[in-house]
Amino acid sequence: MAQTEHMHGVVIRVRREGDVMLTLLTPEHGKVNVIAKGARSLKGPQMPLSQLFAYGDFELYRRGDLYWLNTGELIENFRGLSADLDALNLASYFCEVASVVSDAELPARELVRLLLNSLHFLEKGAASEALIKGVFEWRIMAYQGIFPALNRCMECAKDAIDDFSLDVAGGGLLCPSCRRRHESLAQLSQQRTDATPMVLLTPAVLHAIRFTLSTPLEKMLAFRLEDARDEELLSRAGELFLRYHLDVDFPSLQMYHHMKKGV
Ligand SMILES: [Zn+2]
Repeated sequence: MAQTEHMHGVVIRVRREGDVMLTLLTPEHGKVNVIAKGARSLKGPQMPLSQLFAYGDFELYRRGDLYWLNTGELIENFRGLSADLDALNLASYFCEVASVVSDAELPARELVRLLLNSLHFLEKGAASEALIKGVFEWRIMAYQGIFPALNRCMECAKDAIDDFSLDVAGGGLLCPSCRRRHESLAQLSQQRTDATPMVLLTPAVLHAIRFTLSTPLEKMLAFRLEDARDEELLSRAGELFLRYHLDVDFPSLQMYHHMKKGV
């Protein structure tokens, strides 16, 4: 007799290959793969729980190493995301990132909360997409324990004030003169400059990254950048840093940029 288990979780991946295969992100058990046999039936109780972003209380039974969806209760489906293609692509990207940084049987309480908060903010339009995206990306890096030292130039130890650049690969800041030296050395060795991306930060963005890396989760969006270009910069720097250090391609992120360009 298979044993029944209840798990709270959010669906971060749906594959339809014969049976419907779900990947849940759960606080206690991290990433959990679940087979949803009845999810093809439009009227069945499994249908609402088998959609991307569905957050609920899942009743599962286990046979061997596999979990099967029995039934459950939907808590939130973030249906509003489907009204905006950009928000939908970003939300999918957030799920792809969450999948990359999580693992089976590795508790993921903070990550579940970060993902749910971010989906909620996107759905409600609580801030610009760029701000929500940038904050999510920087918090993911903090969650991974990979974040740049942001107080001073990592070469000459000058205090970080104006015109400091984020050295994405080096994982720290460079003052203007150390950046110039780095770039001329890179030119001499004929290194491709896009292999070691540099992002010139404004003081406001530098402050926003520091805030994001240090503030409690419930205050993650408790700030605004006055200039929309700064919000874009926060997002661009976060994306470069995350992609460089996770070293993964995210299809939904490509789709997000592709659709944005088309506007
Ligand atoms: Zn320096």
